[in-house]
Amino acid sequence: MVTIISRMNGTSFKTRFAPSPTGFLHLGNARTALFNFLLARSQGGEFLLRIEDTDAARGHERYGFALQEDLRWLGLVWDEGPGKEGANGPYYQSQRGSIYARYFSLLQERGLAYRCFCTEEELEIERRTQLAAGRPPRYSGRCRRLTEKQVQQRLTAGMPATLRFHVSPQSEAGFEDRVRGHQHFRAEDIGDFVIRRSDGTPAFFFSNAVDDAVMEITLVVRGEDHLANTPRQILILQALGLPAPEYAHIAMVVGSDGSPLSKRRGSRSVQELREGGFLPLAICNYLARLGHSYGSNDFLSLYDLARGFGTDRMHRAPARYDETQMLHWQKEAVRHATADELWVWMTADTDQRHGQIADMVPSDLSGRFVEAVRENVTTPLEAYYWGANLFAGDHYDDEAQQVIGKAGERFFGSALDCLRTARDFMAFRTALEHATQARGRSLFMPLRAALSGAVYDSKWPRIWPNGPALDRIWDLLGPDRVHARLEEAVRLAGAK
Ligand code: GLU
Repeated sequence: MVTIISRMNGTSFKTRFAPSPTGFLHLGNARTALFNFLLARSQGGEFLLRIEDTDAARGHERYGFALQEDLRWLGLVWDEGPGKEGANGPYYQSQRGSIYARYFSLLQERGLAYRCFCTEEELEIERRTQLAAGRPPRYSGRCRRLTEKQVQQRLTAGMPATLRFHVSPQSEAGFEDRVRGHQHFRAEDIGDFVIRRSDGTPAFFFSNAVDDAVMEITLVVRGEDHLANTPRQILILQALGLPAPEYAHIAMVVGSDGSPLSKRRGSRSVQELREGGFLPLAICNYLARLGHSYGSNDFLSLYDLARGFGTDRMHRAPARYDETQMLHWQKEAVRHATADELWVWMTADTDQRHGQIADMVPSDLSGRFVEAVRENVTTPLEAYYWGANLFAGDHYDDEAQQVIGKAGERFFGSALDCLRTARDFMAFRTALEHATQARGRSLFMPLRAALSGAVYDSKWPRIWPNGPALDRIWDLLGPDRVHARLEEAVRLAGAK
């Protein structure tokens, strides 16, 4: 299904997607995954998946699996990660406790991390005091001054302790962001920060940075909401003597009102889009152009999306989600899919009604049905309507009935006569024009209404104003069905 650029052996280029499984994959995150995937493929490198489930209270096994399913469905297969164990596993952070423990000890041994017993209340008072004095809130370093004996006493007394990383006032954390250019941060703006929570779990800054280094990630593409975390992470890696990856922070995807896309604001998850009938390549073609541009607007395979992808084509401006664009790519994806792919898509059991297409459309006509309606559908639900209208026999919408009534019994009687001798649609049409003197719309509309049960207007919100061409419908239905439908039209017109 998806062709990928083969990997060059021994390459060191490696990207990753590192989601926290706190919900279903939404479009913003899917784009981050896609960018990392495409970059890896464009460079002949590797793409790694890591599940960041250290926050036991929020992480959820279910979401971890769902994320993987969504990524696979999008075609974003990882070279290393859950189910594809490599040298750097495990790939669930919740299973990497012993690795983090080693690095915590190292920092403690080097005097670069210390236990902190400050309670939330104490920290809050400290913060408020600093703010009231017009200073930015930073941890005061109080616990750094505890003696070893004081630390032991508190531990023996069972006081909960976090582990804090000591940021030396002389340290500097500058880096070249591949999208945003040079970034500079001062140590005094950072302050000592927590790297291990009091329940023993690592803080995001720590596990994320350590894993990127030990998993040999060379480029991290992530949302700019993480930009402020990066200096802390670089400081940790410097202290541990581990290599820092390069970073590219991409602008957030925003909705039409300019605020970040979120579930609360109606942004749909990948799963919801999939259930709504969107095709994976439609989503990928759209997302690859949100904050990144190609030379052309052609619909591209994943292979070609990767070939044209580069950090030099990513931009800083916020990427605005636009449903019209999404529908444009969906239309393109339907246009480019094979007939087999579309048949599977139309009959997928995501909604009870879709399943019935396979019962309505005769199996030997499935390929022709797909080709007849392909230009007129963006969702399986629309395909269902066409399937029902063309084959279920009893579907005539109100407008179609009116048009049939207006054309009258004699029109369809003539049509039946012409059918007897006409070998194909062109011959039939010429004979009917001759017999009825009807031309253009007044000929096609009643025929469409009779043969498809609809007059193709804007009745179904997303259906193209023009339905399948009449000759296509004619060929698809075949002489017997055409005959039966014209007879039905005579009856309907007579009943009006
Ligand atoms: N787990 C983090 C998130 O989902 C990862 C951020 C990153 O890519 O470094 O936001």
